[in-house]
Formats: sequence, structure tokens, C-alpha cells
Amino acid sequence: MSDYQIETKCVQGAWNPKKGEPRVLPIYQSTTFKYETSDQMARLFDLEEDGYFYSRLQNPTNDLVAEKICQLEGGAAAMLTSSGQAAIFYAVFNICEAGDHIVCSSMLYGGTYNLFSVTLKKLGIETTFVDPDAEPEELEKAFQPNTKVLYAETIANPALVVLDIEKFAKLAHSHNVPLIVDNTFATPINCQPIKWGADIVIHSTSKYMDGHGIILGGCIVDSGNFDWMAYGEKYHGLTQPDPSYHGIIYAEKFGKKAYITKVNVQLMRDLGATPAPQNSFLLNIGLETLHLRVPRHCENAQKVAEYLSTHEKIAWVKYAGLPTDKYYPLHQKYCPKGTCGVLCFGLKGGRDESVAFMDKLKLAAIVTHVADARTCVLHPASHTHRQMTEEKLIEAGVQPDLIRFSVGIENADDIIADLEQALK
Ligand SMILES: *Cc1c(COP(=O)(O)O)cnc(C)c1O
Repeated sequence: MSDYQIETKCVQGAWNPKKGEPRVLPIYQSTTFKYETSDQMARLFDLEEDGYFYSRLQNPTNDLVAEKICQLEGGAAAMLTSSGQAAIFYAVFNICEAGDHIVCSSMLYGGTYNLFSVTLKKLGIETTFVDPDAEPEELEKAFQPNTKVLYAETIANPALVVLDIEKFAKLAHSHNVPLIVDNTFATPINCQPIKWGADIVIHSTSKYMDGHGIILGGCIVDSGNFDWMAYGEKYHGLTQPDPSYHGIIYAEKFGKKAYITKVNVQLMRDLGATPAPQNSFLLNIGLETLHLRVPRHCENAQKVAEYLSTHEKIAWVKYAGLPTDKYYPLHQKYCPKGTCGVLCFGLKGGRDESVAFMDKLKLAAIVTHVADARTCVLHPASHTHRQMTEEKLIEAGVQPDLIRFSVGIENADDIIADLEQALK
């Protein structure tokens, strides 16, 4: 499969049926798997052999869909989780513990902000938030001896800041830490962060990958490029014996698959945010058309952004596809085919006017979601980012009047007509 183009991988990646097997990836709807001898199963528990025994840890449907996403991102190994939030938590917690520190872009999804600033803090993991557009010298200052991760989003939700991935990768590697990138909005169709130096990529598959707003899910993809052994004590969970598996050393035994093996056999084993195989089956159907849907989302969003940017009632529009946008040059470099189908704008008249306008939309629905086939709209300051103070909102790139508009794959003229009547 690795020789094929990304479109072919979307359709046919990972599942290669042999003679007489189902053409379509089947749902392995089973919690457990059968063995001939007690010893065979014991070897699985010791990680001496690869195989299925209990679906909390591994299930063939889940693994094959993870493998497809791994191919799309150009990674070495991947694992699905039951939501994007679980993927982020596991990705970080796999290499951080109490007493550790994270440097994180302040341009973040609201849920990730809460996870880092509230929940991880309770577990003893501190986060310093940085402005991703700051100069490297400024960003350097955030690093501490106990920093274990640099974290950012390719296209920030909802601030739509395009990340300078190379700058961040350089920064991370000069401090001997991996760069973890949330690639949910760009999708591997528009950007593959591993090519630009990211070490680990995570996804909320609930967005474009599913694409139909029907299933929550997440994915962690590891490039296999970060050399854990080079920093022995620092990443001791990977480089020193694990007593819960008779002293296995992940980085030695599993090489490029060490990080994903550990997150699977430790965190999934103990915390259990396993996706249902049914959901992975549906996710796979979404992935089959990802390469068709994403360009259409971008094409429609571009038309909507152009329409809004000249409208007299619109105060401002953020969309990296507009040549006047601050992030146009980074979009040209990292996602020349397009960034995503989401754009932001504010109405003249501020917050109240923006909210009143949303209520007038007919085709675009007010929902807590983005990035699916149906056009939808949300006011982050009242919804996803409601817990933040005005000051924190600005820091996260969320102006109080900001409307997040997720352009679907309907006819662009119909979407624009809906905006037109609501603006009137
Ligand atoms: C939605 C989202 C998440 C969280 O994913 P869930 O599947 O809702 O848990 C994380 N990151 C980004 C960028 C998102 O848009």
C-alpha cells in the first residue's frame, strides 16, 4: 500500500482480504478471541507474541482502521481511541507523569485547553501556554528541565491559526522533546505533519474523518522517529523495565512501535477508552471518501470566505485561503491544497449582533460540532469556550464576537444564500 497515492489508501488501505474473505472490512463484534492451549494465551499476556485476546486492548476492526490512518499520515504505528479527547490524554500521559511539564500552543481546541489547564494539573502535570507566532527565542523561555512534550494544532480550532510546523519541530528537538500535533482540522489530505518534523500526530476522528457527524473517535499516530533511548531517564516509561509486563523495555523490544505498544498495553489496558468495533467500521466508510470530501469542504469555504469578506455587515473574516489573511503564507507552505472547511467571522455590532445573526440562519444549524457534511455554526464564547474568562478567550484567539462557521459539502450558492438572508 505504501506505493499508492493517498486517495487509493483512503479507499483500500489496510484491509487486504484473501481468497474467500469479505471484500469490505468486517466488524469483529467480539469481546474475546479463542486459543488452542493455555500457553498460547499466556504468551500474549507476556507480549511475547502478537495476537488478539480481549477487545479492550486490541480488536481487528479497530486495528485495521488505525492502520489505514497510519498509512494516510505516513506513520510507523497507530491506535484508535473512543474519542479525540482520549487520544490527546493518552498521547501525553504515555510520556508524562506527576512532576512533568508541557509546552503548548495557546491556540487550542477548548476541550484540550481544559484537559491541560485543569485535569492534567490535578495529576501533577503543569502546562505553559505559548503564542505559536512568537519568535523562537521567545518560545525557548517556556522550556524547563522537566518539559516532556511540545504540543500544538496544525490548524487551530477555532482560531484558525496555521502552525509553523518546522519551527515547532526544531524547537522541540533542540530541547530533546517530541512534537505532538493535533491534525484534526487539516486531515492528512491537506497536511501530513510527520513530513515536516512532527513526531506524533493525533486526531479527533469525530470531525472530517468520520465526516457525517455520527461517531466519536480518536487516533494516535506515531512517526517512530523520536529516539527515546537517546534520553534514557527522561522517558523512563519507554526506556526502563515495565514491572507490569515482567520487565519489558518497550523502546528495546518494539523499536519504532514502542510508543504505540506502550500506550496500548498500559493506558488502554488500565483506562479503557476503547472504540466500539461498530464505530470503527463506520469510521472506515468515512475514510473511504475523505479525499473527495475535504477538497469540496475547502472549495465551498473559500467561496463563503470571499463572499463574507466583501460584505458590508461583516467586521472581519478569518480564513487562511484569503490572500489577505495573516496565515496565507503558512497555508501556502504547509497545506497548499487548502486548510479546512471551517472559517470564522464577526459582525459589525459585536457579540450581540453575531449571536442574533446566528439565530436567523436556516440551512446552517446551530450545533456543537464542526467539520461534517452539513454546514453548521457555533459561537465559541457562549459554547465550547464558555468556561474561559474574556482574557483567556483572547489568548486562545477567540474574540467574543467570533462565529465559527463550518462549511459543509452542500451547494455553495445555497450556503451563501442562507448567509445573505440572515445578514438581511
Ligand atoms: C473535536 C476536537 C477534539 C476533541 O475530540 P472529541 O472526538 O470531541 O473528543 C480535539 N481536537 C480538535 C482540534 C477538535 O476539533
